[in-house]
Amino acid sequence: MSLLVTGSIAIDTVTTPFGVSENCLGGSAVYFSMAASFFTPVRLVGVIGSDCPFDLAKVFADRDVDLTGLEVRPKSKTFRWKGTYSDNLDDRTTDLLELNVLAEAPPKVPDEYKDSKYVFLANTAPALQLQLLEQIETGVFAAADTMNCWIENELDDLKQLLKKTDCLIINEDEARMLADEQNLIRAAKKVLDAGPSVVIIKKGESGSMMCSADGEGFILPAFPAAEVKDPTGAGDSFAGGLMGYLAQVGRTDSESLRTAIAYGTVTASFTIADFSLAGLASISKADIGSRFETLRKVTRF
Ligand code: AMP
Repeated sequence: MSLLVTGSIAIDTVTTPFGVSENCLGGSAVYFSMAASFFTPVRLVGVIGSDCPFDLAKVFADRDVDLTGLEVRPKSKTFRWKGTYSDNLDDRTTDLLELNVLAEAPPKVPDEYKDSKYVFLANTAPALQLQLLEQIETGVFAAADTMNCWIENELDDLKQLLKKTDCLIINEDEARMLADEQNLIRAAKKVLDAGPSVVIIKKGESGSMMCSADGEGFILPAFPAAEVKDPTGAGDSFAGGLMGYLAQVGRTDSESLRTAIAYGTVTASFTIADFSLAGLASISKADIGSRFETLRKVTRF
């Protein structure tokens, strides 16, 4: 089934203990699209400025990613982000956040995308996420991500967004911050009370957990990855694998969500093996399948 994503397309500079990747391709919608395209065709809605040095048609040349919804604004500048990771790769500081084109009006959803049945509102300003969702026909399964800067500065917009979202995919610190609650189980419950029927909390190296309004719960460790160079985009790749799988099977029941979380986990494990999109660009669907089986084996008891 049709999967639409909207989020950032970025010029990133990333520093990890393994090196620096300057002015490389990044952005939540980019990582998501690459990850989800292993499972299902993706419709990307995003906006860049004329300074964007990347040819996205080339980046996605061998992938089923439709770029009709990519808007280039000649007078605007592309979103830029700079981040630095700690020695254990667990903590990340944002050194620079230039919203540029993300602070402007949202890109338009092309008419031919409006029948999309699965929608992922990747990390960007919640007002933009809301305006994009409003352009799509109703009856979709809508999932969203967010981050600390929006929780701090755009909380009212974010609360509006939560009322219209089926699933929130968020990291553990953000869940605690959003719910103003340190205990993750209670934080998840508070997020569910704000609107979504499912919340999926990403816990980095410790894996992820799902809680749903009907009382279902699921926890899964991260894939035991030996190669980790740059965790940037792990969250978006997790969401891409997860939503890609749900759109592929056309179901969002609890069993499908569990399998989707396992695919998200495995897909993210390839992203972190290298800088920018290199980890995801060099693998095949068979590689994902093989790690999926390994994850299944190491979590069985
Ligand atoms: P993740 O590591 O999954 O959080 O995703 C990192 C990607 O998100 C990077 O490529 C950044 O360009 C992008 N990003 C970082 N901050 C923001 C933000 N405030 N809004 C949108 N995208 C962002």
